[in-house]
Amino acid sequence: MSTLKTERTRVRRIPDRGYYDKKTIYPIIDEALYCHVGINHNGSPVVIPTIHARINNTLYIHGSAASRLLQSIQEDSNLCVTISLIDGIVLARSAFHHSLNYRSVVVFGQGVIVNDFQEKWDALKAVSDHLVPKRWEDVREPNQKEMDATTVVSISLEEASAKVRSGPPGDDDADYALPIWAGVQTIELKKGTLIPDPVLPDSIGIPDYLK
Ligand SMILES: Cc1cc2nc3c(=O)[nH]c(=O)nc-3n(C[C@H](O)[C@H](O)[C@H](O)COP(=O)(O)OP(=O)(O)OC[C@H]3O[C@@H](n4cnc5c(N)ncnc54)[C@H](O)[C@@H]3O)c2cc1C
Repeated sequence: MSTLKTERTRVRRIPDRGYYDKKTIYPIIDEALYCHVGINHNGSPVVIPTIHARINNTLYIHGSAASRLLQSIQEDSNLCVTISLIDGIVLARSAFHHSLNYRSVVVFGQGVIVNDFQEKWDALKAVSDHLVPKRWEDVREPNQKEMDATTVVSISLEEASAKVRSGPPGDDDADYALPIWAGVQTIELKKGTLIPDPVLPDSIGIPDYLK
């Protein structure tokens, strides 16, 4: 399916900010380090932040086999996953028109517990690669006990929307004459300083892929 637009994902509020193509949606999913997963748990909405990764047209989340999120998917597999990237604070001349510049995605789908060992392995590697490329090859691989303690859930990316706000504030015409600074303050999420584990032997240097 080339468009992920459905009646459920059609952006109604400011529809010209809505996108339904993979070219817009997938880079937002891939840039975000985590998502929020909304579930129906015993009749009550619960939204849980968690790490994700995408392989082709499938989104994966993982967690402890004992976690409520993953247990409740077995009872009600309907999920809503939300991903948000913040690009700036929009400083308008009026309080009302303040906003954020953002790129966000909403995905609806069924959570499916991944039982196939190879798919589960690939998903966990993708989650690792998503946070720190090349780390998986450097570290001890998961053992059987760790694999068993981990549940991986897949969500097929068939129904999704992106919403993107960019650019300067949109003030009321009369307010442009006000002597008030207006514009955008950018916000960036950047990887920072590497702080060695206090018990790390001095002989172990920082790997190139982290520099
Ligand atoms: C970081 C951030 C902060 C925001 N802050 C505010 C705020 O303070 N107040 C406010 O009113 N709005 C805010 N928004 C916009 C907000 O996410 C909604 O788009 C808006 O509130 C309209 O919601 P709705 O359910 O009425 O939209 P509708 O247009 O009725 O939603 C219909 C469908 O459109 C899609 N959709 C809606 N919003 C998004 C989205 N953001 N990303 C991807 N798909 C979407 C979904 O599939 C949804 O089911 C913010 C967005 C982001 C990313």
